[in-house]
This record gives sequence, structure tokens and C-alpha cells, in this order.
Amino acid sequence: MDWNRLNRAGIPRGDLVSYLKSPVRLRLARQRGSCLLCCARPVNEIALCAGCFACLTDEERRLAEPYLTAAGATEDQRAPGRGA
Ligand SMILES: [Zn+2]
Repeated sequence: MDWNRLNRAGIPRGDLVSYLKSPVRLRLARQRGSCLLCCARPVNEIALCAGCFACLTDEERRLAEPYLTAAGATEDQRAPGRGA
């Protein structure tokens, strides 16, 4: 078992940052409709399910922020207590 991969069909955990830096890849992943990491559904604006989104690192969350705000994310998709 590859510890870096939650799901064989998903991307390695370490690749998530490169996806977050690439709007095109991220959009394609979102259109596919399954979580980048674990392939669960549904996904949010950065193609992650709620479970994986909750496990983002600070760096990943910072990279994700523009996508979420640009898309008019609902309040419950944002981390509590992390105002600008
Ligand atoms: Zn997931």
C-alpha cells in the first residue's frame, strides 16, 4: 500500500499542491466530479470531497482559497475561524 495515495485511482497526496497551482488541471478534475485524492463524491470547487478538504495543510488551504472565494463558496466549505 502506497501511504501517499488514499486511493489507487486518486493522485498522490504530494501532488495536490501542483494541482492547486494549475487552474486548468483543477477544472478538469472538478468536471470529472470525483475527489482528486480518494475519488469520493461530491466534490467542492477544488475537486476535493469534504473529508479530504478538511485535511488540507495550511499551504494547500492558502492555495485553495482563491478558487473557493472566486466561486462564491458557501460558508460551510470554509474553515472556521480563518478570516482574512
Ligand atoms: Zn477525498
